[in-house]
Amino acid sequence: REAEGALEDERPGRVMAHFGHRLEVADEAGERHLCHLRANLDALVTGDRVSWRPASDGSGVVEARLERSSTLERPDSRGRLRPVAANIDRIMIVFAAEPEPHPNLIDRYLVAAEATGITPALILNKVDLLPERASRLHELLNDYQRLGYDVISASVRSDHGLEDLHQALLERTAVFVGQSGVGKSSLINALLPDEQLRIGELSGEHRKGTHTTTTARLYPLPAGGQLIDSPGIREFGLGHLDEHQVAEGFIEFRPYLGHCRFRDCHHDREPGCALREAVERGEIASSRFESFQHIIRELATSTR
Ligand code: GDP
Ligand code: ZN
Repeated sequence: REAEGALEDERPGRVMAHFGHRLEVADEAGERHLCHLRANLDALVTGDRVSWRPASDGSGVVEARLERSSTLERPDSRGRLRPVAANIDRIMIVFAAEPEPHPNLIDRYLVAAEATGITPALILNKVDLLPERASRLHELLNDYQRLGYDVISASVRSDHGLEDLHQALLERTAVFVGQSGVGKSSLINALLPDEQLRIGELSGEHRKGTHTTTTARLYPLPAGGQLIDSPGIREFGLGHLDEHQVAEGFIEFRPYLGHCRFRDCHHDREPGCALREAVERGEIASSRFESFQHIIRELATSTR
């Protein structure tokens, strides 16, 4: 302990990034400190809130991890789920006017997001490519808005919607997920001031071929929000969900679940299925019900 010098009192901080056994911790003023970890602490991830003590040389020691409000997990190379980021309050699902998103794909992302317990929102990027107004896409977006989801239209190219995005991220910690090519990097670049982006480059985290490539970094946004990004987080998917979780992930299904005639109803062709009856009464959109069945059938074949 002598090497650490005299330590000051404990104070709150947030993990911005981690490099093996060392962590970058931001104090309440946003200043960063390279910290060691008390040996008996569980592994910390980017976004964790911690209690730490500054040392006289500007470094510090992390003493405790505070309780997580949420955890984002990814399977490791052996398929075991591992936390990759913590305390996230928004999953921004990015899709684009081109390639036009299939509703089933949007539903898949929503289901995966709902399973984490973190609130999802939808971003439609590249609206500069949309033909004027009344497109099918806007109709589709209205349907999701009616379900209660926040939907934001944006265009990095024509600088549209970025103010709305800053507003939506205010006081929040968000991640951006979505298919390759929809414009996640472009959006993140547009939201972050240049010096923020350079932090990651300077420390060499994103250099290809090193094990640190998938390490997440937390970026403060100028308006007050935060975003956590890494290649691993961006390719967030449905993974390991079971049938029940998928049904729960369709938020408008929730009031009907548990009301089918058969307790083990697969909501397929069973008589007395409360979901199917809700579709027949027009209370659940048939497109969403079909989307649900599609996901369920795919899960069934992939686990067989
Ligand atoms: P990512 O794979 O999701 O990170 O997508 P990128 O940010 O790499 O963007 C993929 C392509 O879409 C690039 O060629 C971008 O220039 C383009 N792009 C991104 N945002 C927009 C936009 O708002 N409008 C248009 N027309 N193209 C965009
Ligand atoms: Zn049923």
